[in-house]
Amino acid sequence: MKIENLNDLFLHTLQDIYYAENHIVKALPKMVKGADSAQLSKAFEGHLEETKEQIKRLDQVFKLLEQKPKASKCPAIDGILKEADELMSEIKDADTRDAAMIAAAQAVEHYEITRYGTLVSWANLLGMPEAAKILGVTLKEEFGADTKLTKIAESRLNKEAAE
Ligand code: FE
Ligand code: ZN
Ligand code: FE
Ligand code: FE
Repeated sequence: MKIENLNDLFLHTLQDIYYAENHIVKALPKMVKGADSAQLSKAFEGHLEETKEQIKRLDQVFKLLEQKPKASKCPAIDGILKEADELMSEIKDADTRDAAMIAAAQAVEHYEITRYGTLVSWANLLGMPEAAKILGVTLKEEFGADTKLTKIAESRLNKEAAE
């Protein structure tokens, strides 16, 4: 699609995060299974359920724009997910692998935080407060997921991996 103004760019970025969320939802079950710590596995499982709702929220925003939900290939999330996958299969020590998975998952959350932060800001600028509100709910969840991962890492896993 041709991007000529902020409206086009908003739509493009929405398609970008739509692509990302649809790939994240496919990657998370492998992380649920791959995590050695039950607490970490549960955190991934919880975020998998949240991610399914986030995709529905994106559908709502497309609807507000009177657009069909569409994904635009995002090489950034492809790279982040590929790196996560490689680390998961390379590392044999369970605690070290959990630490790597947390770090990789936080890279995903930070990526999403930049995208949703931008989208909320642009939705407000473009006079779409309803879209801003919906995207803001997801932004908050991504912050929450990131904080949860930090807590898990700092409470236990990093210590065990360092032993
Ligand atoms: Fe998400
Ligand atoms: Zn993207
Ligand atoms: Fe992208
Ligand atoms: Fe997320």
